[in-house]
Amino acid sequence: MSTNIVWHQHKITRAERAHNKNQKPCLLWFTGLSGSGKSTIANALDVALHERGYHTFLLDGDNVRHGLNKDLGFSDADRVENIRRIGEVSKLFTDAGLIVLSAFISPFTSDRRMVRNLFPAGEFIEVFMDTPLETCEQRDPKGLYEKARAGQIKHFTGIDSPYESPERPEVRLDTSIMGVEQCIDHLIGYLLQRGLIFDNGKTP
Ligand code: ADP
Repeated sequence: MSTNIVWHQHKITRAERAHNKNQKPCLLWFTGLSGSGKSTIANALDVALHERGYHTFLLDGDNVRHGLNKDLGFSDADRVENIRRIGEVSKLFTDAGLIVLSAFISPFTSDRRMVRNLFPAGEFIEVFMDTPLETCEQRDPKGLYEKARAGQIKHFTGIDSPYESPERPEVRLDTSIMGVEQCIDHLIGYLLQRGLIFDNGKTP
């Protein structure tokens, strides 16, 4: 790491940027098995917040591997670096005043903690998609479980690579028993209760 780097204080603070948008910045970090509903729920929440007039940004699945992280593979070190960069980018977007939604399997507690530690208390909201493996595998929306079971994909989370469940997630959703609408109502309720969004998109 270079030693001649000096942090510049911006004249406009992140709070001032967010105030203009009538919202408080935060990161909703969706974690869970493949097929647990991260992408579906994050996208639906993105739409629900956008319709209420909030300024959001969604970082989803493999998309970042096409650009920002296209130099990274799937080694242990590269997986950690993948999550680290996503965390840093999420941080920049919250500094810009946005409500950020990130949907990545992120199976390891240490990686999620690394991202959590980038944020002030209360701004990192871990959303654990606690859908049973059985349901995820039955859904198999991308046919990945079938391939993993057949040995065509190695180190697949839930099959031959572990998923470390969050112990104290801010929000826990099991989409085997909760519909999409119910999950969104729960998340909106949480954001309202925490004062991160306001009824009708207006500050109190
Ligand atoms: P992930 O991003 O975790 O890999 P996806 O959102 O891509 O998961 O896939 C979840 C699949 O489950 C989708 O095909 C979705 O339509 C389906 N599904 C069924 N019920 C629900 C629900 N209540 N919430 C979210 N997804 C659901």
